[in-house]
Amino acid sequence: MKDSNFLKENNGRGFWHPMTSPDDSIKNPPKIITGSNGVRISDIDGHEVVDAVGGLWNVNLGYSCAPVKEAIASQLDRLPYYSTFRGSSNDVAIELAYELGAFFAPDGVTRAFFTSGGSDSVETALRLARQYHKLRGEPGRIKFLSLKKGYHGTHFGGASVNGNANFRTAYEPLMPGCHHIPAPYTYRNPFNESDPEKLAHLCVAALEDEIAFQGASTIAAMIMEPILGAGGVIPPHKSFAPMVAEVCARNGILLITDEVITAYGRTGAWSGARLWGIQPDMMCTAKAITNGYFPFGALMIGQRMQEVFENNPSAKIGHGYTYSGHPVGAAAALACLAETQRLNVVDNAAARGDQLYQGCLALQEKYDVIGDVRGGHGLMTAIEMVSDRATKAPIDAASATNVQEVAYQSGAMVRVSGPNLILSPPLVLTEADATTILNALDKGFAAL
Ligand code: PMP
Repeated sequence: MKDSNFLKENNGRGFWHPMTSPDDSIKNPPKIITGSNGVRISDIDGHEVVDAVGGLWNVNLGYSCAPVKEAIASQLDRLPYYSTFRGSSNDVAIELAYELGAFFAPDGVTRAFFTSGGSDSVETALRLARQYHKLRGEPGRIKFLSLKKGYHGTHFGGASVNGNANFRTAYEPLMPGCHHIPAPYTYRNPFNESDPEKLAHLCVAALEDEIAFQGASTIAAMIMEPILGAGGVIPPHKSFAPMVAEVCARNGILLITDEVITAYGRTGAWSGARLWGIQPDMMCTAKAITNGYFPFGALMIGQRMQEVFENNPSAKIGHGYTYSGHPVGAAAALACLAETQRLNVVDNAAARGDQLYQGCLALQEKYDVIGDVRGGHGLMTAIEMVSDRATKAPIDAASATNVQEVAYQSGAMVRVSGPNLILSPPLVLTEADATTILNALDKGFAAL
C-alpha cells in the first residue's frame, strides 16, 4: 500500500468520486478506509469505528464473512469468467437462478435475469416492461410511474424515474413519459397530512388521478421502493403497497419493486414484497446479493411476464451485460444466501433495527435539532435534522457534517445525505455495536 501522504494528496486529484463534486473532494477530504474486521472499518490513520453505513447498504454480513470470501477465491480458481449470452452458460449462474427462484417462490417471482448492479437491474426492468406490453399487443404502453423522493440508480431510464432533482437536473432532458406521484412521507408532503394511513390513501388517490390523466393504456409500469431508501428512509403505512399493487393490477400496469436495498433481509423480512404482502411483477435486486464483495445484481421476474416471454418464440431479449451471470458474482451470491439463512440475520435485523430506532427516538427527545426519526422496519433508520423544529427548516450542510465527524471520532461511521443521517449497518450487528452507534450519535448531537 502507498504511504498515507501519497494517498491523501492524490485522492482528490486522481479520480472523481460518485455523488461528489471534484472540488469538494479536495477541500473536504474523505475518510480513506484501508481495513476491516467484522462490522468495523479502519482508516488510514488507524482509527477504527463501527460501520453504521454497512458499506453502502450492502455489507449485510459484515466484512469478515469467510464463506463468501472462500467461494469467490475458489470460483476465481476454477472458472473466473464465462458469458451467459446465447449459446453459452455456466454452472454457478444456473444454480443461483434455481436457488433464487426457490427462495423467492412465495412471492411468485421465480425467474432471474442477472446484471452487474442495481442501476442495471432497474434498466432491465424498465426495458422488459415495455417489451412485455409489445409482445402482448399493447405497444402504446410506454410510460412509467414512480414516487417523488424515490431513487432508482443512475442510468438514463433509472434517472428518469428518480424522484429527486439532485440526480436529474444536470442530465436533462431525460426519458419522456415518466411521471411522479407524491411519496408517503409524513414529515413533509403537499397534503400537510401527518397521519401515515390517511397519507397513504391520499398518495394512492394521486396515483389514480395520474393514471386517469395519462390514460391507463399508455402506462407500462409503476416502479417503487418498498421503503424509500436514499430519499431518506421513508417507510409507508402498511396499507400503501397493497393499495398500489391493487391499482396497478386493475389498470394493467406492471408493478416493479426496486429492492436494491430492501432485498435479502435489511427490512427484517426477506424482501420488501414479503414485508408488505404484495406480489410484484418484477423485483430489482443487487447490493447485498454478494454482500458488496462483488458487483452483481439480479432482476427477479414474476408469473405474468414468464407466461408471455416463455410462450413466444419471437420474444428475444435484446438486452444483457457482459457480466450477466458472472460466475464469481454468482458464487458469491450463493454463499451469501446460505450465510444469510444460516446466521438468521433477517431476525437479527428486526431486533437490532428496533433497538436503533428506539434509541434514535430517545435522542429526538433530547435534541431539538432532530426533526424526524424514521425506521421501525429492520436496519434502515434516518434522522432528519432541522435548524428549527417549528418551521422544519433543514439543517445547514456544515452542521450536519459536524455531527457526522464527531460521531466518527466517537466510534461510528454514519452517512449524511442532505439533512438526513442514514443508518444502515450490517445485519450481523450485535446489541453492543448498536449501543456504540447510539452513543457516538449522542456525542455528535451534543457537540452541536
Ligand atoms: N435502486 C435503489 C433503490 C438503490 O438504492 C440503488 C443504489 N443505492 C440503486 C437502484 C442503484 O444501484 P447501483 O448503485 O448498484 O447501480
